[in-house]
Amino acid sequence: MPKTCAACDCAIDGDPITVAIGGKTVEVCCEECSEKLKESHASASGASTKRNS
Ligand SMILES: [Zn+2]
Repeated sequence: MPKTCAACDCAIDGDPITVAIGGKTVEVCCEECSEKLKESHASASGASTKRNS
């Protein structure tokens, strides 16, 4: 069964890049996609951890 990229959903040919996101590990096809995942996770958690000071 071919692996697919968690960011762009294309098939991963060769060595996947593993990224740890929110305690789980996902596989992506390239460095760009790993950055995309990290960014979307960071902005999602940033929005939910709004604090009043
Ligand atoms: Zn990708």
